[in-house]
Amino acid sequence: MRDAVLEVENVTMRFGGIVANRNVSFKVKQGDITALIGPNGAGKTTIFNCITGFYRASEGRIVLQSNGRSCNIGDLITKPIVGGSHLVTRAGIARTFQNIRLFKEMSVVENLLIAQHLATTNNLLSGIFKTPRFRRTEVEAIDRAYYWLGQMNLLEDANRLAGQLPYGRQRRLEIARAMCTSPKLICLDEPAAGLNPSETRELSQVIRRLRSDHDLTVLVIEHDMGLVMSIADHIVVLDHGEVISDGTPSEVANDPAVIAAYLGVS
Ligand code: ATP
Repeated sequence: MRDAVLEVENVTMRFGGIVANRNVSFKVKQGDITALIGPNGAGKTTIFNCITGFYRASEGRIVLQSNGRSCNIGDLITKPIVGGSHLVTRAGIARTFQNIRLFKEMSVVENLLIAQHLATTNNLLSGIFKTPRFRRTEVEAIDRAYYWLGQMNLLEDANRLAGQLPYGRQRRLEIARAMCTSPKLICLDEPAAGLNPSETRELSQVIRRLRSDHDLTVLVIEHDMGLVMSIADHIVVLDHGEVISDGTPSEVANDPAVIAAYLGVS
């Protein structure tokens, strides 16, 4: 039986009186593609933000297994100004965003170099996760950047400004940037949003290749059910901030609670 890379245990996240997640628990197993689905406002992005260190969960624990050690994500969020996200990247989790967030005034290759710098160098912000999982020389970082540009079919764009790339290429650049930090787990927040059908098909191949060729574990939020059903090994369904179903694609698709949530029956 494969081990869990990530364990989300009884996580509740409140914003004042709003409870965005309540008692959320699930596991992400090594090498799996796990999809997090649910209607709008179900709390998917909020739990992603807790996992990736953008928020500290109000209650509960999120534990990552990385390089032979257990890492409690909440412990990394120690800096009130910068948050914990770059420390979480160091620990082994990389992410992309629902609304693409690139350094748009920098070149494509510079975007990949900056991500590696934050993930691999010691600096004053490194908090309790002082030792990066690995270090890279400048030459190694450039090699790695061009390797991922090749993998994402972006080599010809290396010196263009990131903000000038067509939308579908910006989405691929976000994945390349995340992969440059050599994550154990990549979290993709609605990677197919805004893509046309042929770009979505290409994306599903990219996600499968990441898993098969790079020993990666994937957690993906996605509304495109065709994509989810074609790539996911395991699906967790959220509704009104709570987990309502957790299983294989066919178990989840046949779960009356999921059908009711998607059809708006209460
Ligand atoms: P979508 O599929 O539309 O992106 P989602 O499942 O990702 O939705 P969240 O964005 O996590 O849902 O939002 C869950 C709930 O928490 C919503 O009611 C939202 O309004 C609320 N919420 C999220 N972030 C905040 C915040 N920073 N402050 C207050 N409320 C928030």
